[in-house]
Amino acid sequence: MSAISVPKIRLASGFDMPQVGFGLWKVPRDTAADTVYNAIKLGYRLFDGAYDYQNEKEAGEGIRRAIADGLVTREEIFITTKLWNNYHRREHVLEMAKKQNESWGLGYIDLYLMHFPVAQKYIDPSVLEFPAWWVDAERSAVALDKVPISETWKAMEEVVDLGIARSIGVSNFQAQLLYDVQSYARYPISALQIEHHPYLVQPQLILMAKENGIAITAYSSFGPQSFLELPEDFSSKAKAIGPLFESDVVKSLAEKYSKTPAQVLLRWATQRGIAVIPKSNSKERLLQNLDVTSFDLEDAEIACISALDCDLRFNDPGHYLVTSPLRIFA
Ligand code: NAP
Repeated sequence: MSAISVPKIRLASGFDMPQVGFGLWKVPRDTAADTVYNAIKLGYRLFDGAYDYQNEKEAGEGIRRAIADGLVTREEIFITTKLWNNYHRREHVLEMAKKQNESWGLGYIDLYLMHFPVAQKYIDPSVLEFPAWWVDAERSAVALDKVPISETWKAMEEVVDLGIARSIGVSNFQAQLLYDVQSYARYPISALQIEHHPYLVQPQLILMAKENGIAITAYSSFGPQSFLELPEDFSSKAKAIGPLFESDVVKSLAEKYSKTPAQVLLRWATQRGIAVIPKSNSKERLLQNLDVTSFDLEDAEIACISALDCDLRFNDPGHYLVTSPLRIFA
């Protein structure tokens, strides 16, 4: 058992989700099983995956090994995964949910999210080149498909009916579409996963989600950090701004509470009821990132961190899809 106790968030579906988890984007496929197994040993129970991350099977192997070794039970583990944009048509949602669930090999997916509110032309998963925004490896174009979000959401509800997923939600959605989905949803939008850090606070979106019982998960909690290692089109905005870890307010609060800047950034989110899913390949940082609910910042300190807001989005296909921008956040 882990010494660090992580609170749970009750989803609108009635299931509980740990408030702190481990993000699997950029966790290499060949080490993912061991990384996940070791993260479970350290106390992680929530794993945030996606078809796009190309490591679902290996992450599932790590979890299955931990269950077989008696470290955890399936019920103690919570897996989130996401439907990629090429699979928004009803028949593809059902096919991919089944396929992804088989990859994890854990019986069911706890939370299945629509990764982006945009439908792209179908690509046979066996020939899909990653990253999958483009139609080919030359990145010559981005091809949209004419699939309304309602078709995709209703198919995700069928995925719940089939027992493949327990809860469903969305990622990278703005308030207008959330209201729209709510107008026909049979099952509640249990979760909204968004880029959220002091450079991109989105207070109105967070209020709207809270008012509507939609749990929020913050991704890229460290702002530019995760994007620095990516190719130029994805990293240029991150390189143009100072690291959040170096900001005076974050550094001085870290000193005051004898925590690291990373822990202060994660606490800024968790103290406001938001879930976090930081990613690290280092054991020491994994431990730090899990211990982010045991101290409290003052309200004024939370406000000082929020004042760093400059509406700066790093995960923006309107910016990094240079030849065919998708301005979904406009
Ligand atoms: P992140 O967790 O904000 O940052 C990861 C970066 O911070 C890595 O470079 C990591 O390096 C470093 N780091 C981690 N812990 C640290 C610590 N305690 N001190 C200093 N540096 C630390 O970024 P992210 O991976 O973009 O976001 C987290 C997760 O959110 C992803 O893994 C993914 O599951 C999810 N996500 C979802 C979407 C979406 O569209 N829904 C988009 C992006 C991300 P080391 O590994 O070397 O520690």
